[in-house]
Amino acid sequence: MLELVNLCKAFGQRVVADHLSLTVADGETLALLGPSGCGKSTLLKMIAGLERPDAGQIRLGGVDLTALAPEARQVALMFQDFALFPHLDVRDNVAFGLIERRLPRREAYARAERALAELGLAGYGARRVWTLSGGEQQRVALARALVTSPRLLLLDEPFSSLDAHLRQSLQAEFRRRLAAAHIPAILVTHDRAEAFALADRVAVLQQGKVVQCGRPQELLAAPRNAWVASFIGYHN
Ligand code: ADP
Ligand code: MG
Repeated sequence: MLELVNLCKAFGQRVVADHLSLTVADGETLALLGPSGCGKSTLLKMIAGLERPDAGQIRLGGVDLTALAPEARQVALMFQDFALFPHLDVRDNVAFGLIERRLPRREAYARAERALAELGLAGYGARRVWTLSGGEQQRVALARALVTSPRLLLLDEPFSSLDAHLRQSLQAEFRRRLAAAHIPAILVTHDRAEAFALADRVAVLQQGKVVQCGRPQELLAAPRNAWVASFIGYHN
């Protein structure tokens, strides 16, 4: 279980985490929903160890991560633009993190092939990244995130660059894969439909604060204030 306790972070005058506390249970998907610039990506970076909080604690399975290096956290982060390596083929992209962790190449490739097959990409290993469609690249990025068996998956607007039709089919696939892998996940999005479709619980963020956190039905039935109501499209 992930626990964020009183996290604080500011860039100069700009506060992006304001005594922020949240938990994610085992196997749960939590969506972070909030307007652009409210601090969603920074929060994921702090959990992954790419940004340092000014104060507060990040615990995973009871262990304080704050002092651990990013590689030691067993947390996988999948960015918005998924950042595959264009000079590597699909198999090497997926196996990259395993080879970096000094797994023998043969075993790393076998695990990469398995992860690809689970996402419907059997036979794609030797393909160059630039020959893939956006949706295929997205699934390669998810395979790369899952192949290291992370204890927590962080997804930063993973569908925002895709067209509406592809977004819907990939969302369903992600939900199935995450449920099957039973890995807790945080999904960052500014799209309320995506948050409500994919997450067990939704945390609505505004300027580094959790304004409301609950199940989708709870938020829709009883938004805490007028801002939450309008942000989640309560009046639609
Ligand atoms: P979101 O993902 O919710 O859109 P971010 O967490 O990316 O928001 O950014 C929140 C605010 O912090 C933005 O104003 C952004 O410009 C600023 N910010 C993010 N990272 C840095 C950084 N490393 N240095 C200075 N300002 C930053
Ligand atoms: Mg962001």
